[in-house]
Amino acid sequence: MNTTTPSSAKVNSRLLAFQTAIEAPMRKVEKIKDAFGKDAPISDYFGCMTFGLAQMREKLPKDAYNNLLRTLDQGKKLPKETAEAIASAIKEWSVSKGVTHFCHWFQPMTGLTAEKHDAFISIQHSSHSELRVIERFTGSQLVQGEPDASSFPSGGMRSTFEARGYTAWDPSSPLFIIEEENGKTLCIPTVFFGYHGQALDNKTPLLRSIDALSNEAVEFLKLIGDVDAKKVQTTLGAEQEYFLVDKNFAALRPDLVMTGRTLLGASSARGQQLEDHYFGAIPSRIKAFMQEAEFELYKLGIPIKTRHNEVAPSQFELAPIFEDMNIASDHNLLTMEVLKRVALKHGMVCLLHEKPFAGVNGSGKHNNWSMANDKGENLLEPGHTPHQNLRFLACLAVVLKAVHGNAAALRASIASPGNDHRLGANEAPPAIISVFLGSLLENILNSIEQGKALKATDEQIIDLGVAQIPNISKDYTDRNRTSPFAFTGNKFEFRAVGSSQNVAVPMSFLNAAVASSFQECTALLRDLLKKKKRDEAVMELVRQVVKETKAIRFSGNGYSDEWKADAKKRSLPILNTTPDALEVLKDKKATQFLIDMKVLSKEEIESRYHIAVERYVKTLDIEHSSLLELASTYIIPTLEKQMTLMGTTTESMTSASLKRAHKVRSAEFEETFAEVLETYQAFRTKVEKSRKGHDENKRMWDIVEELQPAAFKLRSAIDAAELIVADELWPLPKYREMLLAHTLA
Ligand code: ADP
Ligand code: MG
Repeated sequence: MNTTTPSSAKVNSRLLAFQTAIEAPMRKVEKIKDAFGKDAPISDYFGCMTFGLAQMREKLPKDAYNNLLRTLDQGKKLPKETAEAIASAIKEWSVSKGVTHFCHWFQPMTGLTAEKHDAFISIQHSSHSELRVIERFTGSQLVQGEPDASSFPSGGMRSTFEARGYTAWDPSSPLFIIEEENGKTLCIPTVFFGYHGQALDNKTPLLRSIDALSNEAVEFLKLIGDVDAKKVQTTLGAEQEYFLVDKNFAALRPDLVMTGRTLLGASSARGQQLEDHYFGAIPSRIKAFMQEAEFELYKLGIPIKTRHNEVAPSQFELAPIFEDMNIASDHNLLTMEVLKRVALKHGMVCLLHEKPFAGVNGSGKHNNWSMANDKGENLLEPGHTPHQNLRFLACLAVVLKAVHGNAAALRASIASPGNDHRLGANEAPPAIISVFLGSLLENILNSIEQGKALKATDEQIIDLGVAQIPNISKDYTDRNRTSPFAFTGNKFEFRAVGSSQNVAVPMSFLNAAVASSFQECTALLRDLLKKKKRDEAVMELVRQVVKETKAIRFSGNGYSDEWKADAKKRSLPILNTTPDALEVLKDKKATQFLIDMKVLSKEEIESRYHIAVERYVKTLDIEHSSLLELASTYIIPTLEKQMTLMGTTTESMTSASLKRAHKVRSAEFEETFAEVLETYQAFRTKVEKSRKGHDENKRMWDIVEELQPAAFKLRSAIDAAELIVADELWPLPKYREMLLAHTLA
């Protein structure tokens, strides 16, 4: 392998990485066995590393368990003795599983999770002043913690001198044990808040939004005839997309290590155009990874149901069975952590970034969302009885009104630098929130709007007389992959959510919007009920809402330019970039629903705006520094080598025709090289100038308007160079290597 070219080290490592990737040994996991030594069925060990309500019912004294239920159902304060009893049961269980430490697991506004670990050990003084170590875990350690919060972002809500932050146990989400090679840790899901009770995390607003929706929905349901409704549950199934790249490639790509995405890289000749990856056979090494990840997730009580290849090469997806919103949200965060950890064990890096590779699909996280009543009936499920159908239509109208009235805020809730590559950029649908319903529902709503009797002859629609309640059958056939918010038979899919995001953020906005819409619809319905009988009043409400929210419904191709023009005519918000979207958080009118529903206070909204701006600026500063460094220390020196190589070749030429032909090639190369140098200089100058500024908001706009286009030009110049420089000189693993290695493995 030792050649004499000065680049040999790089070439060797790139080729070596490729060789390692295709020859990587398969990692085998030790599964849990049944009594006969065979792999036990999943149901045997599902949730064995969790301590939730089921385990509490089994392990707690009856009184303690009932007190806990009262806390959960009625928000009553947990009595101290109960907390002690629960802590003691948790400790017994944890220690029996080999756990040594516990941590309060929380969700600061950095978008990730955080944890601070403490050992269970405590010192016991005996009568002879001899020290003895015992395992101890108290009620107060379970219920409240106080991590040093000064380094977590608060967006200006706390000055550092009162930098206290508290974590408090969220008993509605199960505790869980994280097992690692050298020890086990008990994680306690907690909320994180400041001295005055202000939310410093993403879980608190989610919990508030779940309550708000329940309260408002119950009022509405009572009016439409579900008189005994007490609670409405929100449900979520978050489909997670991700990429896998061999660890050895990532090690040679400073951009992947630093930013989670490739800042450079010419498209591979074969990308996703053959559409052969989607739902294709899962490569064995990848499947071995998935099987281990799922095994870990099952032990954590996360019901993963589906796995498959996604559209882009090296892109995959896993989806759970839907659960209660709060638990599903925690479970998605845990899933992301487990995917990353297990991938490393298999010699791969799991990329959760929304756009790790240009030119192929990015990753999203479809948030399947619905609501259910006390009886577990899905409120968005067309039913068998006229009443169920009436309720379905009414709830559908409520959601339409929520999305129509709060489209800009919903867009803001999914704004991130990574998601900018999926929304409103090249290769992405425009960042316009619209709702897709499918042709069956479109027809029904149109007829309702026009007050036409629905045709009894149609198989799926039956005229039920006075109230015109259509009989709606669930329709699975109608799909539209380009819609950011689509109805899929019995739930909505909020698809514009980014793959790396904490879903608690968009879900709390959506819940708040729907809660607020329920509240408005309740008021409207009360008025209508003064004049009409109930079913007729409800149908009239549906008619009014359908009419008023018409602009938000769109069934066409969301990727098309015509849609952008059409959406503009409909006055829908078009917010292409994160800066555009974040401005919504400063708009009092657009955020009032969050305040009204007590999901976020005015101060909390402001702080979230500041944190988002700061994170945007920091993330792009890191990308830009990385790009400049790659250009000057990897790419430009490579082009210099190629230049030398070509110069030496020219000198050795004797034939005039060869010289002439080679001159063309040299000229082409020189032009490309010049373009790289020029765009590099232009970008660098802009970056340096922008960084002199200290106003965060101005920097954000600078970045999106000035720096990003300049970065894009530099990237294009380098990607063009990649295609004409000698392969052996190119220092960075190429797209074809990273994306297609697994097809040879
Ligand atoms: P589809 O193929 O139509 O997207 P699936 O049944 O495969 O539908 O479901 C996709 C995701 O939606 C899964 O995570 C599933 O659990 C979830 N889901 C199904 N019903 C609901 C519901 N009522 N609420 C929330 N999520 C749901
Ligand atoms: Mg789906």
